[in-house]
Amino acid sequence: MDYRQIPAIFVADATGLDFLNSVATPVDEEVDWITDGEGLLSWLGQAGLVPSGVLETMRGRCTSAELDEVAQRARELREWFRDFVRKRKGRPLLAKDLRELEPLNQLLERDAQHGEVVAKTADGVTTFELRANRRWQSAESLLMPIAEALARLVCEEDFTYVKACEGPRCTLMFADHTRGHARRWCSMAICGNRAKVAAHRKRVKEQEHG
Ligand SMILES: [Zn+2]
Repeated sequence: MDYRQIPAIFVADATGLDFLNSVATPVDEEVDWITDGEGLLSWLGQAGLVPSGVLETMRGRCTSAELDEVAQRARELREWFRDFVRKRKGRPLLAKDLRELEPLNQLLERDAQHGEVVAKTADGVTTFELRANRRWQSAESLLMPIAEALARLVCEEDFTYVKACEGPRCTLMFADHTRGHARRWCSMAICGNRAKVAAHRKRVKEQEHG
């Protein structure tokens, strides 16, 4: 199925994991939302990682070949990071895990940001805020908010509660922020209901044969 026909999935409760979920099988066909440059722009917009004005500027400034290339790098980053997360979910990260994050640090090193003091007014009260602005000078800069989200995931998320959905054919991951950490499904709509229906069918069958 084409990614243009279906909105991207944001059920992970952590942007870094939503990025991993940008390839998924929501019904029965795999969908990759970052299959080309246009897909990457669209996913970044849906994720709220890049302002729509910037996306428009990048569309005008970069060639589609450049955007396709950066989308390919995004997919490579995604699969590399998926491997990192899969191997470590369910337990706290350890000091030695940092070594494996070297490619991420190399990418973050290329980021160009500058701070800006901006005024915010709410209910007639003005406060100043320090905002981080990106320069968006090249197609590559589109990878930076993703790199930042991955960095935040490893810095701020307890990997003990990073989980894979228990749906038998589901590949979605999420951060379980529920009290008691009892979350098992990517979403009720996708896998939770499917599991309920399967359990119900099994019960009915057992009753029939019991
Ligand atoms: Zn699922």
